[in-house]
Amino acid sequence: MAKDAGKRTATSYDADEKISFETSEGIEPRATFDAMGIREDLLRGLYSYGFEKPSAIQQRAVVPIISGRDVIAQAQSGTGKTSMISLALCQMLDTTSREVQGLVLSPTRELAVQTEKTALSLGNFMNVQVHACIGGRSIGDDIRKLDYGCHIVSGTPGRVFDMIKRRNLRTRGIKILVLDEADEMLNKGFKEQIYDVYRYLPPETQVVLVSATLPNEVLEMTSKFMTDPMRILVKRDELTLEGIKQFFVAVEREEWKFDTLCDLYDTLTITQAVIFCNTKKKVDWLTEKMRQNNFTVSAMHGDMPQKEREEIMNEFRGGTTRVLITTDVWARGIDVQQVSLVINYDLPGNRENYIHRIGRSGRYGRKGVAINFVKADDVRALRDIEQYYSTQIDEMPMNVADLI
Ligand code: ADP
Repeated sequence: MAKDAGKRTATSYDADEKISFETSEGIEPRATFDAMGIREDLLRGLYSYGFEKPSAIQQRAVVPIISGRDVIAQAQSGTGKTSMISLALCQMLDTTSREVQGLVLSPTRELAVQTEKTALSLGNFMNVQVHACIGGRSIGDDIRKLDYGCHIVSGTPGRVFDMIKRRNLRTRGIKILVLDEADEMLNKGFKEQIYDVYRYLPPETQVVLVSATLPNEVLEMTSKFMTDPMRILVKRDELTLEGIKQFFVAVEREEWKFDTLCDLYDTLTITQAVIFCNTKKKVDWLTEKMRQNNFTVSAMHGDMPQKEREEIMNEFRGGTTRVLITTDVWARGIDVQQVSLVINYDLPGNRENYIHRIGRSGRYGRKGVAINFVKADDVRALRDIEQYYSTQIDEMPMNVADLI
């Protein structure tokens, strides 16, 4: 892979953006999986998983990815981007080999596991071996699985790098690196770790970036590690999630948020709901306080032991628990189709995470509702979000339960 930005044969796309990429405009969307040339055994997996036809982003991005292009794919939450990674990777595998050929990096352990599961399901009829390489789990298990041989590794950067350094994860067969939630992965917290991993990959490795949000500062750095990337994008004003109704409740003071949440409890449990707080401490505090008041809630954040995190995820995915209080560890990528309500107990610290958080509801065209608790000094931030995404956030109506 040449790291020479000057080599790009770029054409301009967004008038308001300085950076230009070749775009997918000339590419014919493929309306069926058949028309993409997907292999038979994978088609069976797709159909039996319930995928009948490709989503808009899949129609445009799968073919360039499987043809070996570096691709930047951006589309709103819940439109099948993460599933597309599994689909494309399975298509590209040589299952007669036992080498790792595809590497997916995700910002959270939960998302890495979700991708592992999706790839296993879609590749069910092609005997694909997938392993989630994540922090908090036994290193011995990782070593065993990797030594046995697997085709796809879906992991978090720290553990993946560790396995590469120990030489248990051999990189010479890797053909494609995918960064899911790419803007988060290239943010301060992860960037160095990503570069650490990247340096161990074969020089011709294909790179694919996927996210609902890709701010310019991230796009600007892509020339360092992508060659002639094709950018497939949904514009910013199409990003806010048609199916998700957004509201605010003015609470004036922090103390009022709690009563407001209690009043909403029946609404929360209509299907499933996720409540976001900005800190782990606040998650613990709110969970405790809800329980003291006899409400049933579960909670998850990054300071919990891995085993507990997994149990809570499984219970919530299985529908045994209905209300989950969490941090931004849950903001990106996690797919639980029954979630129809998201509450921002605290407004998120940045615009990107707002979109990701509310996108936990309204999965794949379902209905969703997002409710923001706003104190007087949050109003400006809320208006900023509204303007940035050209969307409307109204005061919560009395009949909000009817909208779920
Ligand atoms: P994103 O990464 O864009 O948020 P996901 O890949 O998590 O979206 O997909 C959202 C939901 O839609 C998942 O439950 C997934 O199984 C489902 N889905 C994805 N692609 C399709 C498809 N082509 N047909 C039907 N359902 C799909």
